[in-house]
Parts: sequence; C-alpha cells; structure tokens
Amino acid sequence: RDNLAVWELAEMLVASETEIIKNLFFKGIAANITQTLDMETARLVAEDLGVEVEIPEKKSGAEKTEMLDNEDLENLQSRPPVVTIMGHVDHGKTSLLDSIRQTKVAEGEAGGITQHTGAYHVDVEHEGETKQVVFLDTPGHEAFTAMRARGAKVTDIAVLVVAADDGVQPQTQEAISHAKAAGVPIVVAINKIDKEGSNPDRVKQELTEHGLVPEEWGGETPMVGVSAITGENLDELLEMISLVAELEELSANPDRLARGTVIEANLDRARGPVATLLVQNGTLRLGDVIVAGPCFGKIRAMIDDRGQRVEAASPSFAVEILGLSEVPSAGDEFDVYADERQARAIAEERSEQMRTSRLQRAANSRRVTLSGVS
Ligand code: GDP
Ligand code: MG
Repeated sequence: RDNLAVWELAEMLVASETEIIKNLFFKGIAANITQTLDMETARLVAEDLGVEVEIPEKKSGAEKTEMLDNEDLENLQSRPPVVTIMGHVDHGKTSLLDSIRQTKVAEGEAGGITQHTGAYHVDVEHEGETKQVVFLDTPGHEAFTAMRARGAKVTDIAVLVVAADDGVQPQTQEAISHAKAAGVPIVVAINKIDKEGSNPDRVKQELTEHGLVPEEWGGETPMVGVSAITGENLDELLEMISLVAELEELSANPDRLARGTVIEANLDRARGPVATLLVQNGTLRLGDVIVAGPCFGKIRAMIDDRGQRVEAASPSFAVEILGLSEVPSAGDEFDVYADERQARAIAEERSEQMRTSRLQRAANSRRVTLSGVS
C-alpha cells in the first residue's frame, strides 16, 4: 500500500486524530480524518509525534497475503474470497446478508437452523463451476475497522451497500475510504431497487463523485442493482463477487499448519472461551495446538456455519472453536504449533508482553495529563 488515512495513522500511533490534523496543519496541509496521506508524509507526522517508522517494501502477487511464507509459494492453491458487507445504516446490510444466507445456505437444511458464527460460506454457480464465497458477518464496519487497526487483513472484497432511494451517505463515504485505504476491491450493491422512488442511476452518479465509476460508464467498479427483499439480482451480485475474486488470484497453501485471524470471541457460560477463527493459510484440524494472540489452546471441537461439527477447515473458511484457555480479541492472529510446550511458552511470553505494554501505556497517558498536553 502506498497511502494511509488520517484515522488509520491515528490508530497506528495510538494518537488522537486531532493531534495529527494539527501537525498536518503546521505542515501546510489541511486535512480531515478520512484524508489519505502518502507514506512519506505519514512518516514525517509519526516522527514529529516521537514514533520512528519503518516503511515496508512493497510486496506483489501472492505474497501480499502476509500469511504466506516463501515455502508456501510452491504449493499454492486457489481459495475462496472473504467478503465484508459495508454501508450506511439502514441501507440493507443485514437484510442482504440474510437474504443471501436464506437462499443459499439454508437450502435443504434440516430445520434450517443457522448458527451465528461470525462468518458463513455460500456456493455460487459461475461459468458452469461451483465456487465458494465466504461472508464475514461482522456488525457493519466496526469490526472491520477494529481488526484493521490491529493490523489484521481479513477482507478480500468489500461489498458496499447503497440504498437506491437514499444514495451516498456519511457511512457510505467512510466505507469507501476504509476499503480504499485497505486496498480492497469494491463491488457495489445498489439495494432496494424494488422500492418506489428508487433511482439507481442517481446513486451511480453520486458514487462517481466519490471516485467509484461504474463499469458501464467506463470505470472499474462493478455495480449491481439488487433487492434484499425480493431477491432480485442476488445471483448476479454473487457472480460479480466471484469474478472479482478470480481476478485477484487469491491463494493459500492448504498443506501446512494453519494460521489466520480471530474474527470473534467470547466467553460462553457453558462452553468456556469460544472463538471464530478465519483460516487464512494452511488447514486447521481438530486436536491442533494453537496460540491465538496471548491465549493458548488445544482444539476440542470445531463447528462450521451450519452448526455442524467438522474435523478440518481449509483456507478462507471460518469455524467456531472450543478449547482455548482464555478469550482472545477480534483481530488477534492465531498459529498452530507442532510442539505444545513451545506453544505454551509463546502464549506465556505474549501475555507477559501485553501486561508490560499496558502498564507502559497507563504510565504514558499519566505523563501526558500531568504536562497539560491535550
Ligand atoms: P442495515 O442497517 O444496513 O443492516 O439495514 P437493514 O438490513 O436492517 O435494513 C433496514 C431497513 O430496510 C429494514 O426495514 C429492511 O426491511 C429494509 N430493506 C432492506 N433491504 C431492502 C430492499 O431491498 N427493499 C426494501 N423495500 N426494503 C429493504
Ligand atoms: Mg444491520
């Protein structure tokens, strides 16, 4: 990536956005929180705030998935895209997700009980082949933002939902700048086309003003008019997602110990710590020894998005797991280890480090308050 939004820089530096905007102002740059900065400017600001910055070399192709090592490159297989749905409140994110889930996931299921696991996968027919798409069921973009702030990259494609009767709104713009900052391709779902007064063309016009030009107008952003209520064009939307995924050439090495990201975690009274893990490389198996953030665990049970117990999860799939000793945070990375003692030692060391840095942060914030800097 070659730029960074002000809000992202603030999160990375654990600084306030105001502080950064003020610093930019003294550099002669008028900025708001969604303004993007080139890496050099970001570095200068960071250094003014007392943080030394290293700009990593640009990676290309498969390597950009930071979860891949060199030895994986010889054993890459394509993996399904992981999709996040974003957009303004009430534009239909939940309805769209439900509608896709109902038509695609619940089909033919006994009782049609769908488990909430934070992610689920659907089958998409595309050019005579069945492909899979994994949707992250995160609440709006909060989780997305929180995870990205912690450096986790879990989304391959963002579906931006814009209501055809309401057009581009503040959270639409926010979603656009988040996706752009993350370098994630956007597919626009212009929703509620069944509604009277809906005007998809006006929405396209507005999106164009925000840098998203529809393909049919010579731009690069696929836009599909849909209705979450009637189900119109949902297949087309899914196909579009598959198509974009294909161009991204997403891949991973299924023949290794798994690694990935925690996308949800909580403490269940009956079951203990429960976490949803998104496998981003390798294959996760029952009985695996893992470290998730600072937490150690041995996978006792794995449950997929249909509530079924499974024994393995391959790249891009998300499963709920039991067997962690503590509750990790969303955005924590996890790794499987062959050696249980090593895994325990790593988890121990990390929680020690976290304790130390928490104390340090507390001490720093006190210093700031005492010196009267606001
Ligand atoms: P979210 O806040 O983005 O998750 O939006 P919701 O999915 O909760 O939808 C907000 C409202 O819009 C609800 O009352 C939905 O029933 C309605 N809605 C969502 N999609 C459509 C659609 O395609 N057509 C119509 N007519 N209403 C919709
Ligand atoms: Mg919702």
